[in-house]
Amino acid sequence: MNLDEILHKENLSKEEIVFLLNLTDKNDQQFLFDRADEVRSKYCGNEVHLRGIIELSNYCEQNCIYCGLREDNKKLQRYRMTPEEIIETAHVISNLGIYTVVLQSGEDHQFDTAMIAYIIYEIKQKAELAVTLSLGERGFDEYRSWKMAGADRYLLKHETANPKLYSIYHNKQRLDDRLAHLKFLKEIGYQIGSGNMIGLPLQTVEDIADDILFCKELDLDMAAFGPFISSPETPYRSKSAGDVDLTLRVMAVGRIVLKQVHIPATTALATLDDAGRIKGLNVGANIIMPDLTPSPYRERYQIYPDRKCINDNPLNCKGCLQLQIESIGRKISNSRGDSMKIGEHSRA
Ligand code: SF4
Repeated sequence: MNLDEILHKENLSKEEIVFLLNLTDKNDQQFLFDRADEVRSKYCGNEVHLRGIIELSNYCEQNCIYCGLREDNKKLQRYRMTPEEIIETAHVISNLGIYTVVLQSGEDHQFDTAMIAYIIYEIKQKAELAVTLSLGERGFDEYRSWKMAGADRYLLKHETANPKLYSIYHNKQRLDDRLAHLKFLKEIGYQIGSGNMIGLPLQTVEDIADDILFCKELDLDMAAFGPFISSPETPYRSKSAGDVDLTLRVMAVGRIVLKQVHIPATTALATLDDAGRIKGLNVGANIIMPDLTPSPYRERYQIYPDRKCINDNPLNCKGCLQLQIESIGRKISNSRGDSMKIGEHSRA
């Protein structure tokens, strides 16, 4: 196959995506990264959007095989932030000049429909913030109530588009159900985000190509591609982490295939490689999602151990990211960074 031709095609086949993901020659990889950076620059410009994450609860009723928050992990010290703490943290984030807050937790029904709606409403009343929810699979009526309360976006990763692997990783749950949730969220007006994990046991490069095509089929507003990192209190405790270089190739191919989509340089990538955020921004990413959960909660949100920046003061986070982002000639955005597809089909 001719690399240059493939990199400039409008639509890529699965075989062509696999070819790009398998590139081993350093020069060829650099061509791929440069093309992804060019596509990012064309569709997203030079701005990097920050999304401040608040991890409001580490309780979870699910048992995903790779995740340290799984219900069977009895060693984890669990917590729930109070609604007032969450609303206050959202205002701190707004005062830092960050325009999106991500409310993230395990699947925790103690945070019921009304409580989440109240938190969204209060945040939106007092600050000019976009609100992203990342609360797992919840009821369709709940999604509707939260949209009415003011939520803008929903992040629900699929992790793998292979139905068999999905069922293995997610305690016999069905990929079709996750797809139905994502489609419903989109139908009722959420900007939607999804994505995969790279390097999970049993996963092949063909599976990863399918993940990218799955993101395209869903016409996502945000697509996150992050490496797997093992967590001690899970069945995958002794499995190797995902490969950083493969993750960068997935991000680059994701940018070339999906084009007008937000792509984060993930914290997992930065955890495996100190320069991961910069490397990610150079191969197609335009988003960084710093964890701004206050202590003592942030240390306990252990999806995997030793997360990047976990011991840093969240208040210093923006300044630190600004230095990194400006070092590569990019700048932090002063806008909410809504979907680039608004006007085409979705509206916040
Ligand atoms: S991945 Fe999400 S739903 Fe699954 S165990 Fe972890 S927090 Fe719970």
